Amino acid sequence: MPELEFITRIPGVQIYDIFDGPSITIKGRLPRPPSATCPRCESQVLRIKSTQTRRLKHGLWGGKFVYLHLKVPKLLCGRCGRHFVLPIAGVLPKRRATEQFRQEVFHLHHGGLTQKHLSRTHGIGTATVERWYHDFVVYRVKELEGRSCPLVLGIDEHFFTRKRGYATTLVDLRNHKVFDVVLGRDEASLGAYLARLPGREGSGSRDGSIGNLSKNGSQIFPECKDCS
Ligand SMILES: [Zn+2]
Repeated sequence: MPELEFITRIPGVQIYDIFDGPSITIKGRLPRPPSATCPRCESQVLRIKSTQTRRLKHGLWGGKFVYLHLKVPKLLCGRCGRHFVLPIAGVLPKRRATEQFRQEVFHLHHGGLTQKHLSRTHGIGTATVERWYHDFVVYRVKELEGRSCPLVLGIDEHFFTRKRGYATTLVDLRNHKVFDVVLGRDEASLGAYLARLPGREGSGSRDGSIGNLSKNGSQIFPECKDCS
């Protein structure tokens, strides 16, 4: 099945079988890399105690779910006695979906597909869509912490969930990049966030005047000449 090459490979995983039925199941194993270390004491004196199969949702291909069934060694540290399952790149411990799959749901939801729609197409609950979306918003915020405020900031708001209301997307208009996604759309929720951004003072200028922010723009960016 050469077209499956399009499905992102996971580093270190050796695929030994693919079943193409109502869904696609890719079977693979994760051999113990020589560089594996104990997460507690960093010892390399490790022994394989058993093998665990992790079943993960990995993507959608041609309308079919792609599952990974990966055999992963359970190791015992010879120094401190800790048992642990070898981590898989791109998969968080105890998750039943790869980060690629979770990220796809995040992007689709961010792009406007509803939780109900994604629940149907991706076979997950609406609460899961919301939780995953929130996870990635938190990642983005962490990633962006300490970054300077863009010189020209565009804003756009979109409906997030009934419970959480609106989210506002901040766009760096000079570099044509999404700068951040923030929950809320009024000054109360965005003002505190924007006030924390370094490099805002004096050079803040904002294009666009969407939603409630337009009337508050001059409060958030007091020195901005474009805000009215
Ligand atoms: Zn150890």
